[in-house]
Amino acid sequence: MKQSIQILPEQLCNQIAAGEVVERPASVVKELLENSLDARATEICIEVEKGGKRLIRIIDDGCGMGRDDAFLCLERHATSKIHNESDLFALHTLGFRGEALPSIASVCRMQLQTCAQGGDEGWEIYAEGGQVKRAGAIGLPPGTSIEVRDLFFNTPARRKFLRKDETEFGHIADIVTRLALASPAVQFRLLHNGRPLIEVYRQSGLAERIGALLGRPLLADLLPVDVDGGNELKLRGFVSQPSIHRSTTGAMYTFINGRYIRDRVVQHALLEGFRNVLVKGRYPVVVLFLEIDPSLVDVNVHPTKHEVRFRDQRLVHDFITSAVRDVLRPSGWLKEPGAHAGPTTAAVSQPSERPIYPSAPTPEIVREYRKEIQESLQLYGRTPPPLVDRSFNMPVSSESPSHAEADPAETQGFYSSLRIVGQYRNSYIVCQDGNDLVLVDQHAAHERIGFERLRKQFLAGSIERQALLFPVVIELDFREADQFVGQLEKLDRLGFDIEHFGGKSFVLKGVPRFLDQTDAEQLVRDIASETTLIGKSVLAEESLDKVFILMACHGVIRANQALAVPEMSALLKELDAVDFSAHCPHGRPVMVRQSLADIEKMFKRS
Ligand code: ADP
Ligand code: MG
Repeated sequence: MKQSIQILPEQLCNQIAAGEVVERPASVVKELLENSLDARATEICIEVEKGGKRLIRIIDDGCGMGRDDAFLCLERHATSKIHNESDLFALHTLGFRGEALPSIASVCRMQLQTCAQGGDEGWEIYAEGGQVKRAGAIGLPPGTSIEVRDLFFNTPARRKFLRKDETEFGHIADIVTRLALASPAVQFRLLHNGRPLIEVYRQSGLAERIGALLGRPLLADLLPVDVDGGNELKLRGFVSQPSIHRSTTGAMYTFINGRYIRDRVVQHALLEGFRNVLVKGRYPVVVLFLEIDPSLVDVNVHPTKHEVRFRDQRLVHDFITSAVRDVLRPSGWLKEPGAHAGPTTAAVSQPSERPIYPSAPTPEIVREYRKEIQESLQLYGRTPPPLVDRSFNMPVSSESPSHAEADPAETQGFYSSLRIVGQYRNSYIVCQDGNDLVLVDQHAAHERIGFERLRKQFLAGSIERQALLFPVVIELDFREADQFVGQLEKLDRLGFDIEHFGGKSFVLKGVPRFLDQTDAEQLVRDIASETTLIGKSVLAEESLDKVFILMACHGVIRANQALAVPEMSALLKELDAVDFSAHCPHGRPVMVRQSLADIEKMFKRS
């Protein structure tokens, strides 16, 4: 047989390695920034053009490199950070694989300029696709500048995977935010197409840095964490009060030994700590640094080092959970046996078993609802009733009511024809329809009404507004703010009166009439993070539904709210006024029905 194995050429190896390490412009920024931090820079400037696709330039004032190092650093497996295997388990630098520079160089046009601290001259190297084209001595201040142009110019297939400039830039801003949170003493400047978007100066501590990056008003709602778990296990940083929450995990920044990590175990442990104080589907703001004996954690399980492996997963998990609970407990948020229920501090929204609903109802919530309804029905009969599955057969309002007490003068819809029996758990309206038992979820009902009404008013260009008694200043993070500015006009059409105050600050002066004022800030934040998530096109007409759903979720009637009979009947009447059959945005049922036969069966009467 013909021998066919061959050793791949160096250049190809680098490109393959680049496939793992360099996914998009943000990965380049991450690697270069980590190098600058490892070089103990105190000032780092990041210039980006066209989302990083055209140019990424990072200039630092770190230790720099002498002539030999400058050439070596572009070689594969060339690193100054580890020397032997034991170093691998005692890492004190962000990098160690010696792979980033050659990988990046192999897929771009790179210019490296560097001058060692105390060195008398600097060096410049220009390489294309990893091949050095020019090199020479030049006069430079100490430090390093690396320019990455035309990323993936020689791998067009990979270039095609890149997204819009804004999306790619968003990822870059995220990376810079994470690394800047971890190094408050370092000055960071990030510019996109010449516009400065992140500018943080040397700060004395983490709190200050969080304020500068994530918004100063947030500071008042942060609870400090500083827990020593022994065994070189420490957790320090901040978590938000449960009154502050977000619709995504985007504001959960976790670091292990100074390295930003998105780890499943850590995330789970944190959310476990917040269990019962935050509703499912809502997430805290968290900036936490876990310190752990480097020999108890393996960071070399993933090329981009985003994931780790703990030697004792359970130990770390439980330590984090109990640390978070210890922090929340004194503030009175935890409802544990013996503990005081409810917050002792003034809070925007009170936590309860289910104070608010996540913005997008998941199948899980639908299931939870069903379970709850089932449980409540079990109060009537001990055998579990069949799962209610007729919930989506929405009655059409033309259905003629079968009731004697119906007002013949009014064309009565289905919901107004229901006889109200009462309210269950301040959340469900219990009704009778002929012989059937009908439960209406008051919050879902209200959401439906809000959603349909908003759509109608929006299309007619007439969303009713209300001015806020006290305008609210909202500070977003850099990435959100950047995208949000472009949405203000659309938001105005949606009934939001928002002014850009400059930088990351916005003033909210008015909201749609339908909305609960006390909740307006949270809603605007949700819309902002939603738009950041999906990119600029979110407020294109066809995706407005998402925003309407968000808005409807923030309407005034909630679960856990006692309603008087006239209020219940008004709600039912309003349900009739919206056209369900045409539109069904939520997966969540508004009403469920049990027939007399079902109920008799429960009581074994059939
Ligand atoms: P690693 O960071 O894993 O060592 P890299 O390929 O990222 O591998 O970098 C290779 C080497 O180049 C580093 O070990 C370091 O010695 C040097 N280096 C890279 N960037 C800088 C910089 N900004 N300042 C000083 N030295 C640098
Ligand atoms: Mg590196």
